[in-house]
Amino acid sequence: MPDIKHIGIVGAGTMGRGIAQVFAQAGFEVSLYDVMPGLPEKAKREIEQALQALVAKQKITDREMQDALNRILPAGRLEELNADLVVEAIAEDGPLKKDLFQKLENIVTPDTILATNTSSLSVTELSSVLKYPHRFAGLHFFNPAPLMKLVEVVRGALTSETVVLQLSELVKKLSKYPVTAHDSPGFIVNRVARPYYTEALKLLEEQVASIETVDRLMRATGFKMGPFELMDLIGNDVNYVVTRSVYEAFAGEPRFRPSRIQEQKVKSGHLGRKSGKGFYDYDKK
Ligand code: NAD
Repeated sequence: MPDIKHIGIVGAGTMGRGIAQVFAQAGFEVSLYDVMPGLPEKAKREIEQALQALVAKQKITDREMQDALNRILPAGRLEELNADLVVEAIAEDGPLKKDLFQKLENIVTPDTILATNTSSLSVTELSSVLKYPHRFAGLHFFNPAPLMKLVEVVRGALTSETVVLQLSELVKKLSKYPVTAHDSPGFIVNRVARPYYTEALKLLEEQVASIETVDRLMRATGFKMGPFELMDLIGNDVNYVVTRSVYEAFAGEPRFRPSRIQEQKVKSGHLGRKSGKGFYDYDKK
């Protein structure tokens, strides 16, 4: 296995740009690609704003900001991601991810580690389409990636132990904590967290309490964010797909059932912070 120096990231949305910032700040060279032309450049501008905020708070120096930015290369073509590790952060869609990894295998060397940031899909199933499935694993960052310390390293049935160890060591170099998990729907955190959302949505459906009340109450009990503001941060589209995927993977277990409210939010384009409106209105906030 080569030393990991150059990271390819596919998907410059909420997670991809956060992951790019994390690697760049830790000294890695990052190539960031998205199927939407111009999005990697836009993501880099947003990373610059995030880093400027850190400079203003004196958490990093101006020089450190410039160095981190210089390490991020927006890529116009997938072929530019011939890196030591490629992290995929595209839509939570199995066939789309499989198709991407098959394309990536024709670009990278057999030594390159391929990792998915999936929240809920089976790592083993995603790896089933690969020529070299042993170099494939889950590398699950949490949102917002620059702040959240935990990273799940998910071992698929075909993942080699060397890859799991290498990814765990890499996570430590990012000043984060790796936790290894075997491949299982939602892994650890998303399985434990699912009822946080579904139960809150049931309260709303039954008109037991308002969105604001539930969020305020959960914050008062020690949670950093209430369930509705957290769903808006995650993206209601992403959270809905993940809920459905965990529900299906557990053969329709009632406690994981998605809510119609989530479906309506997605259909009406109220995706949360990224669209300006979700459970809350961010133009007003
Ligand atoms: P997002 O919708 O914000 O971004 C996804 C990006 O992928 C978009 O910019 C889209 O243009 C791009 N994309 C789609 N198909 C592509 C393809 N074939 N090739 C290249 N780019 C493509 O989604 P996100 O919230 O960043 O989630 C990405 C992944 O991370 C998902 O698997 C999700 O489950 C997981 N995840 C999300 C969160 C969260 O809180 N949002 C947390 C942890 C993990």
